[in-house]
Amino acid sequence: MQPTDGSLHLGNYCGALRQWVSLQDELDALYFVADLHSLTVNPDPTLLRERSRRTAAQYLAAGVNPEQSILFVQSHVPQHAELGWLLQCQTGFGEASRMTQFKDKSAKRNAEGTTVGLFAYPMLMAADILLYDSALVPVGEDQRQHLELTRDLAVRLNARFGDGTVVVPEAHIVKGGAKIQDLQNPSAKMSKSSAGGKGCVWLLEDPKKAVKAIKSAVTDADPAYTVRFDPENKPGISNLLTIFSAFTDRDVDSIAAEYDGRGYGYLKVDCAEAVTAWLQPFQERAAVYLDDPVQLDAILADGAARARAWAAPVLARVYDRFGLLPVTNAGA
Ligand code: AMP
Repeated sequence: MQPTDGSLHLGNYCGALRQWVSLQDELDALYFVADLHSLTVNPDPTLLRERSRRTAAQYLAAGVNPEQSILFVQSHVPQHAELGWLLQCQTGFGEASRMTQFKDKSAKRNAEGTTVGLFAYPMLMAADILLYDSALVPVGEDQRQHLELTRDLAVRLNARFGDGTVVVPEAHIVKGGAKIQDLQNPSAKMSKSSAGGKGCVWLLEDPKKAVKAIKSAVTDADPAYTVRFDPENKPGISNLLTIFSAFTDRDVDSIAAEYDGRGYGYLKVDCAEAVTAWLQPFQERAAVYLDDPVQLDAILADGAARARAWAAPVLARVYDRFGLLPVTNAGA
């Protein structure tokens, strides 16, 4: 995730972070704070530093275990940018122009506001993946096209430079990866920009605000107060059920059965309680890391050292296949 805000939101947690925590039990996982990616929106340097720490603290508070997984900040592993350049040199201009995220984002900015970095973003993401010989990439729908580009590039590299140049990764569609909608506009994805921010729950904000946002969630005018999981016809109720389920590990149908016909207020109050029961200890754990940046930085430094040790031989192999002249000790 990019360190573009002071806090992650409920969608980031339910859609990604929560799954990362369970994946580390089964797999050798690497998680990073995508600070190089965030440079495409030209962040304020002081805010960026602080937000990188806040993002890492939230990974840890959510349960990413730095002993089990490798947790680091992207810019601490220079091989990401180095491999990114090689991949840019293998990507067609037309191919990169077809990326829908680039088209959407560049359409919102004028030509001056659209940087070459924004254009090259998917190649940096491909480097993030290929640098570790990654087999599986946990992705949401929004990143599918970028992962397809990564796979195309991997196949291309192996065809041009020989089998085994890089590992072709697979998408890992994570079970239970929930898409969370905006509480004020349940037909749109929860994000910082939608509905003036009122439909978004921030993980590090005062839990009272989360309660207020959930209690004032837009539902529907069904006089029977039917509660069922039906995103098409009952998007607001379905969203509350998804959130409630994520924080209680109960399935949506059993929650729906319990609240059906009782008035939406009951569902909202209990959903808000489930979220805040998780938020409070989460915030306390995050505060421990944020109050001790020396300890946090040490965790990140250790993760970066382990990531560099993993990345270096992979990058050396790719450099060699590309025909780049190796450094020798002959002149030393
Ligand atoms: P973003 O904040 O859009 O860069 O997304 C960071 C991660 O959070 C990605 O894995 C997204 O798929 C996930 N994510 C963002 N918003 C939501 C949402 N509303 N529901 C589910 N997952 C989300």
